[in-house]
Amino acid sequence: MLQGKVAVVTGGTRGIGLATVRKFLENGASVVLFGSRKESADTAVAALKAENPDYRVTGLWPDLSSADEIREAFDTVKVEFGSPDILVNNAGIAASDPLYTYRPEDFRKIMDLNVNAVFLCSQAAALLMREKGGGVILNTSSMVSIYGQSTGCGYPASKFAVNGLTKSLARELGKDNIRVNAVAPGVIATDMMAAVPEEALKPVIAAIPLGRIGQPEDIANAFLFLASDMASYITGAVLSVDGAGRS
Ligand code: NAD
Repeated sequence: MLQGKVAVVTGGTRGIGLATVRKFLENGASVVLFGSRKESADTAVAALKAENPDYRVTGLWPDLSSADEIREAFDTVKVEFGSPDILVNNAGIAASDPLYTYRPEDFRKIMDLNVNAVFLCSQAAALLMREKGGGVILNTSSMVSIYGQSTGCGYPASKFAVNGLTKSLARELGKDNIRVNAVAPGVIATDMMAAVPEEALKPVIAAIPLGRIGQPEDIANAFLFLASDMASYITGAVLSVDGAGRS
């Protein structure tokens, strides 16, 4: 489905990002994964190459709060693989701080990664996509972008902003043949969820009509569809992939 395409996936070293990198590789794309550190990027690339030595995959670790480092990373992608056709803005952190003790620096930190980095990477990628004649930008939102959450307000606030970027950039970039969509995952079994005790998960699972939490591959499948030409008339959409958990 992605034969000959070049993709960049931020936060591609584990969880949803790594599953998406793998799915894109299985479908013929060349992929540059962005990690937060050289070690985690190298480990992910080595694991993927061990699965299939023919995979065209490499890793970079730009500081996602730095416009300069992001631009340099996209320049490297262009030199090594060609301009990107697909960007998946996936790197993200969660929060559970109550408002009364929420430290301003922690609120800023979540906005820096979950929102500002999406803006910066989208800008760097879109400049290259426009030059190339088009592309696809995909964002990782969350089901909490629909109704908020009861603590850690920075996280849902950041995902509401991701939806805003998605819908606005879809309108702005359509003329350049760049589609922009988001996937809003429900509860997905990744490191982000690993900290939640099993007892706390039971009522969550009971409230999901499909009767299970999601797997990273469930989200990767949605990204694959939205990245492919099968979704060529879809832009500005926020696709819930949550087993109808709360959507
Ligand atoms: P994860 O913690 O397993 O992975 C997060 C990824 O982000 C990692 O690759 C990590 O290296 C990267 N990252 C974290 N901090 C970074 C930084 N400062 N700079 C660069 N990269 C950084 O989490 P996940 O569950 O796979 O989450 C991926 C995305 O999915 C996030 O945007 C998250 O908000 C979203 N999401 C997850 C769930 C869930 O239930 N797991 C639900 C809804 C949305």
